[in-house]
Parts: sequence; C-alpha cells; structure tokens
Amino acid sequence: MAGNIAHNLELVRRRMAAAAGRAGRSVDGVTLIGVTKTISAARIAEAAAAGLAEFGENRVQEAREKIPQIGAGPRWHLVGHLQGNKARHAARLFRVVHSIDSVDLLRRLDHAAQQEQQTIDGLIQVDLAGEASKFGIREDTLDGILESAADCRALRVRGLMALPPYDPDPQATRPYFCRLRRLLESAAPRHPALDLTELSMGMSEDFEVAIEEGATMIRVGRALFGDRPQAGGPG
Ligand SMILES: *Cc1c(COP(=O)(O)O)cnc(C)c1O
Repeated sequence: MAGNIAHNLELVRRRMAAAAGRAGRSVDGVTLIGVTKTISAARIAEAAAAGLAEFGENRVQEAREKIPQIGAGPRWHLVGHLQGNKARHAARLFRVVHSIDSVDLLRRLDHAAQQEQQTIDGLIQVDLAGEASKFGIREDTLDGILESAADCRALRVRGLMALPPYDPDPQATRPYFCRLRRLLESAAPRHPALDLTELSMGMSEDFEVAIEEGATMIRVGRALFGDRPQAGGPG
C-alpha cells in the first residue's frame, strides 16, 4: 500500500466522491490535504506529480527542512500544534493553520503574517472530548476567541478543526464530527464579520464519515502514503 501513491490517490478520491454522493454534496466542496509527517520530500513530490495540490505537516521544524525541497506549487497546511515562538516560520511556510488554540497564538500569528506580508487562513482547534492530553480550546471559549479574530488583519479565521479520540470504528467518531458542524453553524451567525465556513475533520480511518457530516477539508496521511514508522503518530 505504501508503494503506489498515484493509485492510492485515485482510491481516496473515489471514496471521497462516494461519501459526498451519499450526503448529497458535491465533492468539489471537500479539499483533500495529504498529511506528510515523516514522509520524504521525494515521495511528496511524487504525490504532487500525481495531482495532489495541498499538503499538511505537523511540525514547523520538519516543514522547514522539507518544504524548500519541494518548491513552489503545493499549498501547505499546518495541522499540528504551533508554539507562539514559531509563528514567524509558520507564517512563511503555511497558507492555512488548523491548530489555533488561544487568543495569544491568534495575535502572534496575525502579527507574523503581517510581517511576512502573507495572508493566512486560520482554523480554531476544538477539543471536543475534553481530553487533557490534546491541544485545542474548550467549546465554551470559542466565542471569545472568535471575537478577537475579528480584529486580525492578515489572518482570516475561516472555521474549526477537530482531532477526535482515535477509534478504529469510524462510526464512533461520527458524533464528534456532527458536534463540530453544529458548533460552526451556531457560531457563524454570531460572528458575521468572519466568513466561517470551513470544517477540517476526518483522517484516513474516518474521512468518509467526516464528509457525510460536512467536512470541507480532510487530512489524510496513511491512506495515501502508507503506514508511518511508529514515532510519527498523530499529534
Ligand atoms: C497525522 C495526522 C493526520 C493524518 O492521519 P492519518 O491517520 O495518517 O490519515 C491528520 N491530522 C493530524 C492533526 C495529524 O497529526
């Protein structure tokens, strides 16, 4: 399965289309992000050549080493935790940051984006399960952070991201996806200054369920690139 990326990409796209069809959605409304943590620049280039246009990395340091090797073309997403002191690097490397989890980080990233003369789309990561081990905000702090987002100049907050507890049964994750969508739908009218439409949810195990529940961005690693060495697990 690790072998043929073009073939894997074809399979994932077919599964995406089928899931969108079941939900009465157009698959054009779902962006596939290939998550490339631990994956070599050569294999990323192979995926880009096969037609994948959006990629995600977890760590700024790893991205700083690999992204310059790939060159212009792909659009990069930061899907892992971001430390405030790396905001400047993040603003240079990534056009979308999925892991905003504090007002402080929001402000630092906006400032960094202004300094880099870049525009960044941002998503607020929500810790739906209240897992102490996970990054992300508590649901009841969402409105506060969205109020601050309205003051940003180079960072546009566009929606929400979640990384639900891992479960081998994709149906077990459905309630979390459903909850994230409802959270976005209820927040959007309260924050008309923001264009809140994006839902980043779903990974290799459960992206079809996520699409059925309204995902607009799915973050897929193993289904495209094969299993990772153990050390590079989610988070
Ligand atoms: C690794 C990772 C993914 C992709 O996980 P797969 O199971 O390989 O599809 C998605 N999102 C985040 C935040 C990750 O860390």
